[in-house]
Amino acid sequence: MATTRNCRNLTPAPRGLPRVWRVAAWLATLAALAYSSVPMPEATWLLAPSPNWDQRADGMRPDTVVIHSTAASGLWLNVRYLRKPESQVSSHFVIGKHGQIVQLVGLGRRAWHAGVSEMDGMRDVNSRSIGIELVNLNDGRDPYPEAQVRSTAALIRWMRQIYDIPNENIVTHAEVARPLGRKNDPVGFNMRALRRRSMPTDG
Ligand SMILES: [Zn+2]
Repeated sequence: MATTRNCRNLTPAPRGLPRVWRVAAWLATLAALAYSSVPMPEATWLLAPSPNWDQRADGMRPDTVVIHSTAASGLWLNVRYLRKPESQVSSHFVIGKHGQIVQLVGLGRRAWHAGVSEMDGMRDVNSRSIGIELVNLNDGRDPYPEAQVRSTAALIRWMRQIYDIPNENIVTHAEVARPLGRKNDPVGFNMRALRRRSMPTDG
């Protein structure tokens, strides 16, 4: 829905223009307001900082991406939860079903998404990874829309310009959570396709 924030970006025609142009400008404003109820495009990237982070151990550079699903619907409900100090959880990104990217934690910081986990013998997976939460019910039926997958792949391609993230280090929460079986997310998500589409050559 249109919000006050959207309105702020809309510039009515300055006074002094012929009436016909002022009318046209207001019609354009109304059209823009109507359009703002359309789902945001995939490239939308918003910052919504979460307090739930600390420093990566030994100042590690991330070399891993952990994919989660939220197991709850609603982009903003999930973002709100991950920003609550008392939730004690976070992720670097949440990606909505329309491909909106919301960043909660800076890449150099350690977000709290993997919990008790292990990868290649290292237990502190949070210190080496970037966590991405996909908004999804995690019931195996709720789809991961193309816009969401496209944004996720584009985000990883972008991060690969900064960090060395091998394909085998794009993993699911289920793979690294300990004991195995403690987590099963992201149920039904095509990791093979994500790894393929996250290759730097895939424009
Ligand atoms: Zn998870």
